[in-house]
Amino acid sequence: MPTTSEQWFARARAVTPGGVNSPVRAFAAVGGTPRFMESGAGAWLTDVDGRSYVDLVCSWGPMLLGHAHPEVLAEVGAAIARGTSFGTPTTTEVELAEEIVRRTPIDRVRLVSSGTEATMSAIRLARGFTGRDVVVKFAGCYHGHVDSLLAQAGSGLATLGVSSTPGVPASSAAQTIVLPYNDRAAVEAAFAEHGDAIACLITEASPGNMGVVPPEPGFNAFLAETCTRHGALFISDEVMTGFRVSARGQWGVDGAVEGWVPDLMTFGKVMGGGFPAAAFGGRTDVMAMLSPEGPVYQAGTLSGNPIATAAGLATLRLADDAVYARVDEVAATISAAAAEALTRAGAPYRLQSNGNMFSIFFGDAVAGSAVRDYVGAQAQDSEAFKAFFHAMLDAGVYLPPSAFESWFVSAAHDDRAVQQVLDALPVAAAAAAAVSTSTTSGEDTA
Ligand SMILES: *Cc1c(COP(=O)(O)O)cnc(C)c1O
Repeated sequence: MPTTSEQWFARARAVTPGGVNSPVRAFAAVGGTPRFMESGAGAWLTDVDGRSYVDLVCSWGPMLLGHAHPEVLAEVGAAIARGTSFGTPTTTEVELAEEIVRRTPIDRVRLVSSGTEATMSAIRLARGFTGRDVVVKFAGCYHGHVDSLLAQAGSGLATLGVSSTPGVPASSAAQTIVLPYNDRAAVEAAFAEHGDAIACLITEASPGNMGVVPPEPGFNAFLAETCTRHGALFISDEVMTGFRVSARGQWGVDGAVEGWVPDLMTFGKVMGGGFPAAAFGGRTDVMAMLSPEGPVYQAGTLSGNPIATAAGLATLRLADDAVYARVDEVAATISAAAAEALTRAGAPYRLQSNGNMFSIFFGDAVAGSAVRDYVGAQAQDSEAFKAFFHAMLDAGVYLPPSAFESWFVSAAHDDRAVQQVLDALPVAAAAAAAVSTSTTSGEDTA
């Protein structure tokens, strides 16, 4: 008997490619029917079939405070009542920009509507500022669907098993150098050979789009220093980590301690409070190149939209030490319990975390040592993940429908929500173990 999500998915596929507006949502990597969500409250999502789930996706990161937070809703409601878009400066834009500048090392910020727009604009600005064209990125790092940044971009491309996409001109791809993550020698070599053509190096501040693959100690500092030495700009993409892994993002964890500052940074997700808002910013002299102060053009009809900025501002103002402490605590509890359940069930795995972002790589190939780059992440056993994912879903836990994504929690994950996750883990771990055993070590278990 078709469920309502099934019926909606059929209707969706008739009018939208794959039935979704962003590829990973389609469940292609895990199979089955994507759940059409009707509402969210705190840690919980409810689908159109009437089932509820503890949400471990949190809209891919933004919902730091949980769904439908009353104070965020109040600010959004008040903003909507004042009108939804004017195409003029508004006061909440200024206040949100001030909040971002206060929490980060950047001097000036420009608001945009998506993370993709933020990285695209940052790249253009870096090229305009340096007068150079080449961009360096890392395999497995996702920076939105920007032409020059889609090579080996992790996330959805990894989920769908493709390394690049038709539609990106060869001339654009040719301006991008893709290197293995955490590989200092590869960075040294690329800069030695192309140093005076490189406009910028862009990296996820701590990658979460190939699963969680944190920078090795000092790696970001090394990147910042290398860029400076070669007159290239260092762009730290904190669309995912910004205002999530700490009040000051990943920079608060490494740069602030080690004493270095990115030339440009990009933000999105949490800073929009569930609305389309994102930002890029950096050094005053670099940002002064941006239109209308300088010649590098960038614009947006809905940039700094009053509803989105009200939601983002409310979210950041509420994101105090207690919020980060709770999110960290929930992540630590769930990740430790997942590790324990997998160990008990005999399913090989590798748990990786960076503060409150974490993910699990399944299979013998990754169990022994750190996953430090995209090649390592691709060695995981996607069948084991699939079995684990569906067992969790059946037990009312909504995980990212891809093995190449971070899991996210919120400050609204209370003890009841956490308990539902803990209760689901043993059966899911057993399901993963059953698949791992049959696919990876046939002789031993026969
Ligand atoms: C999500 C993400 C983006 C793209 O943001 P969108 O709002 O989806 O365009 C860019 N960079 C990183 C690191 C991200 O996680």
